[in-house]
Amino acid sequence: MKKIAVFTSGGDSPGMNACIRAVVRTGIFRGLEVYGIQRGYEGMIEGDIKRMHSHSVSNIIQRGGTMLKSARSMEFKTPEGRKKAFENLKALGIEGLVAIGGDGTFTGAKVFFEEYGIPTVGCPGTIDNDIFGTDYTIGFDTAVNTALEAIDKIRDTAAAHDRIFFIEVMGRDAGFIAVECGIGGGAEFVMVPETKTDLNSVVKSLKNLRKSKSSSIIVVAEGDDLGNADQIMNMVKEKIKDPSKEFKVTTLGHIQRGGNPTARDRVLGSRCGMGAVDGLISGKTNCMAGVMNNSIVYTPFGDCIGQPKPLHPDHLALIDILSI
Ligand code: ATP
Repeated sequence: MKKIAVFTSGGDSPGMNACIRAVVRTGIFRGLEVYGIQRGYEGMIEGDIKRMHSHSVSNIIQRGGTMLKSARSMEFKTPEGRKKAFENLKALGIEGLVAIGGDGTFTGAKVFFEEYGIPTVGCPGTIDNDIFGTDYTIGFDTAVNTALEAIDKIRDTAAAHDRIFFIEVMGRDAGFIAVECGIGGGAEFVMVPETKTDLNSVVKSLKNLRKSKSSSIIVVAEGDDLGNADQIMNMVKEKIKDPSKEFKVTTLGHIQRGGNPTARDRVLGSRCGMGAVDGLISGKTNCMAGVMNNSIVYTPFGDCIGQPKPLHPDHLALIDILSI
């Protein structure tokens, strides 16, 4: 293998730059030519692919977002789009790919590999932490820390006015961000898509909260089965029927995707990037390089996509115990 290309796809996440940097520099260190594809599968279809050098990735490790930009490509979902992408890669002699992204990106990579056979190794780049085959995904730690910083600030104002705050965090269909924010932010409740939320018990507990509690924080994952934070707040308010209680909603939104990556995300991105290149060189393909129990592991794309990653049950129990 002489030439590889790297791209970022789907939702961006802090630490993707550290991962790109590691792919480029590990590739060069191992004697490969490395190319960067702009805007994920879009750029692959348009042929927006450039040679990268060691200095191409200077001064990016500390930056959020992705220097290669990211996109969601409808055209790549069509056989015609993928054919164009393959022809562009073939014209440049690209023999291996590193795909940095989430489950959609890996689904695309799997389909592409099965059709055209270009060896591909993925790196788990998403804030949601919803990918099987890695303990954490690149960007998750930064997103949790960003959300926590906001929750700490909200707690100040919540306490000053005895308010009940519903704070919606990202995570798509997974509750990992919500759970870690709930533990780290000292939430009374966390509502996640993985478990059915019993609204009546939430209402009962909120009514009985001890008098010394000056505020209540309820963290809602965006994919919760009961709806978004605003809808849930209205349902609770309706049931509590206590005009003395003040309810507020904050949806943190895209700030969770930005910002400088934490040390953990820089290290994880770097390790996965190096793992992906070394995996390609050693003949691995159609799989993701993740970190489990502090070691690089390669998990077939099919398993990363197909297996739901469960929340740790202890974490949910911990929130209940610590909010008494
Ligand atoms: P995040 O989890 O952060 O949203 P993601 O990688 O899951 O990231 P998606 O938008 O779901 O983001 O997927 C990224 C891209 O992967 C899509 O825009 C599309 O180009 C490609 N893709 C997804 N599913 C398929 C598929 N079934 N066939 C071909 N390409 C696909």
